[in-house]
Amino acid sequence: MEELLEELVEECRHYTAQGRLADYIPELTKGNISDLGIYVTRSDGKHYQTGDYKKKFSIQSIVKPILLLLALMDNGVDYVRSRVGVEATGKPFDAINVTDQTLLSEHLNPMVNMGAIAMCTLLKGADYQERFLRLLELTRTLAGNPEITLDESVYLSEKRTGNKNRALAFLLKTYGMIDDDVEDVLDCYFRACSIQVNCKDLANIGYVLANRGKMPQTEERLFPSRYANYVNAILMTCGMYDGSGEFAVKVGVPAKSGVGGGIMAVVPTRMGIGIFSPGLDEKGNSLAGIKVLELLSRRMYLSIF
Ligand code: GLN
Repeated sequence: MEELLEELVEECRHYTAQGRLADYIPELTKGNISDLGIYVTRSDGKHYQTGDYKKKFSIQSIVKPILLLLALMDNGVDYVRSRVGVEATGKPFDAINVTDQTLLSEHLNPMVNMGAIAMCTLLKGADYQERFLRLLELTRTLAGNPEITLDESVYLSEKRTGNKNRALAFLLKTYGMIDDDVEDVLDCYFRACSIQVNCKDLANIGYVLANRGKMPQTEERLFPSRYANYVNAILMTCGMYDGSGEFAVKVGVPAKSGVGGGIMAVVPTRMGIGIFSPGLDEKGNSLAGIKVLELLSRRMYLSIF
């Protein structure tokens, strides 16, 4: 397995140059475009890694499944379902998904920005600081890494320049889908996206979803298996945004990308995979990361279809 990963990273390294760093968050342009790393956490307790797997990067949209999990743990399926829909948008992650004069919860998907901003309001906590800290704590627990923290400079960069997300949040407010102060909600969202992780963290988090709520080794249950079914299904249909269909055909497992260059893949019952390569394709997904996953899926028959 170690050899296979090394071979694939070697084979895909040249794709890194074809990607582009996300520049709409200025701090992300400091990334190294040629980085490529992978970490695999398997159900037999073994783990394998290669390339730049130790590099840290901001989790960005890969926090969305964790946000959804916490919203489910705090409120249950029915309430979350009534506030944020499940249909794939088939649109870019920051699309303004509003039709005519209406915006309904049905139009929101938890894996794109508008739905994720709305989900911040579903988390329990006295204020948005506490809500964020609970999200950070869950991220640490899922990753088995108590040292995960916020990347302060990415957070500040995103807060300073995140006007598209502000527009999305104000639309939610206009249509009565956010009651609280927009800046408070956004602050929680920007912090959430700026949590700093590495490939191992993503592989471990993906593994808990693959293992339907149970931690590796201890088999301690963190959440009911139906929440894993719920999250994994939405990852499958919208985790790679408007690239989800092609990803389903070529890789065939639930996954989530982030503009920091990370991808978390969930191979039900078998493994969690964390990948990092900050060069993005035109849809905002890690370009070389997807190539590695395509080859790995083919070689190890990972597709669930
Ligand atoms: N923080 C990013 C944003 O809101 C997350 C987007 C992403 O990773 N696709 O634009």
